[in-house]
Amino acid sequence: MSHTNIKVYGTYWCSDCKRSKKFLGEQRVHYEFINIEEDADGQAVVRDLQNGGMSIPTIVFEDGTFLVEPTNAQLAAKLGLETKAKCEYYDLITVGGGPTALTTAIYAARDGFDVLVIERSGLGGQAGITERLDNYPGFPEGVTGADFADRIIEQAKRFGVELLSAQDVVSISRDMEDYLVKTDAGHMYRAHAVLIATGSTYKRLGVKGEDDYIGAGVHFCATCDGPFYRGQEVAVIGGGNSAVEEAAFLTRFSPKVTILARGPALRASKVAADKAFESPQIDVRFNTEVVEFKGANNHLNTVFVRNSESGEVSELRVPGVFVFIGLTPNSEPFRDLVKVDDQGFIVTGIDFQTSMPGLFAAGDVRAGSTKQLVSAAGEGAAAAIAIREYLRGHAPHAMGDTLAASGAIE
Ligand code: NDP
Repeated sequence: MSHTNIKVYGTYWCSDCKRSKKFLGEQRVHYEFINIEEDADGQAVVRDLQNGGMSIPTIVFEDGTFLVEPTNAQLAAKLGLETKAKCEYYDLITVGGGPTALTTAIYAARDGFDVLVIERSGLGGQAGITERLDNYPGFPEGVTGADFADRIIEQAKRFGVELLSAQDVVSISRDMEDYLVKTDAGHMYRAHAVLIATGSTYKRLGVKGEDDYIGAGVHFCATCDGPFYRGQEVAVIGGGNSAVEEAAFLTRFSPKVTILARGPALRASKVAADKAFESPQIDVRFNTEVVEFKGANNHLNTVFVRNSESGEVSELRVPGVFVFIGLTPNSEPFRDLVKVDDQGFIVTGIDFQTSMPGLFAAGDVRAGSTKQLVSAAGEGAAAAIAIREYLRGHAPHAMGDTLAASGAIE
């Protein structure tokens, strides 16, 4: 996390404030949030800057300059992020910049290939915004997600990988033996091979009130929003590893965390589930389905739940809930191009190649992946080896052969 003096003036209900905060969080840029509904001085700062205007978010940077309601692209430019690649042609482009893509990129660049990584939010992926990683081999004391991500990014830079963030890939198309990769900023890049490693996103419940209170009581990231609930009770929805681990994390702030699991048992691993059962701060309710979210003054205060055995509906009065009910693959822009399963996960062969030659997929977006960080990195390495074979067959002038022959790489 880079420490800056950035101040975000806004409110909890403003959706552009949430977007900007999310963007800064994904870039792992530290900022101070000032809720101008509760902070009169903060409100005065906004009025002063805008000659009486009150548009939010208003974001003030270390050098005293400010942006009002910036787009993500404007924020990226202000933060000095690379948003346009140096070349138009690469041996390999990875779509996504999480641990899978970065591992593939490190391997391929180390083999001498020209590699471009295009990430739509912050490099490091979900791992980068995870509070703590405890099960990655080689870190006996655990490691923070941000530290872990910084290390892979540094390693990728050392091997000359070109890294773009805040650039959304909107399409991939075949052109002769190459692929054309287009970003939302309208830039088009060409590559001999492409890896889709776009990961997956937390699913939403789809119940009444959920959309109304997103960011104002309904959350999908405990690391980002858990500290808002210091001293207050919260609920976690779901019964898998994410729900149970995030519930344990939330006990740092909340005196009581209620896990609402829709089934009769937790699906989480025994170790994680036992930890939840043993915690005096965690209460687990089974056979409990969420039917509605309600609140007042633009903030959640009640979750309506139904017991699936008795059918009885009851209220749980909490100001915050965290939803962890599984993952949806980030494969939307590519579903017409490659074969996907019924949930949208991309189907590959054992060589990580999709139904299109030269187009590979690995990590959480791939059908059959285990959604573990270690295997995400492992898939990245295995995909890199398959891609190297493909590129050697299709890109005879790639630098990998030259460097290998010179003994510069192993
Ligand atoms: P999972 O798919 O493992 O679990 C989803 C949970 O949400 C289940 O309890 C499921 O209930 C419940 N659920 C699904 N839909 C709804 C709904 N509409 N309403 C209420 N509840 C619902 O997802 P996770 O996000 O927990 O984990 C994803 C993957 O990541 C898994 O493979 C997991 O093992 C892995 N992971 C591993 C970690 C680790 O090893 N440290 C940490 C975090 C995740 P039901 O059981 O009734 O279907």
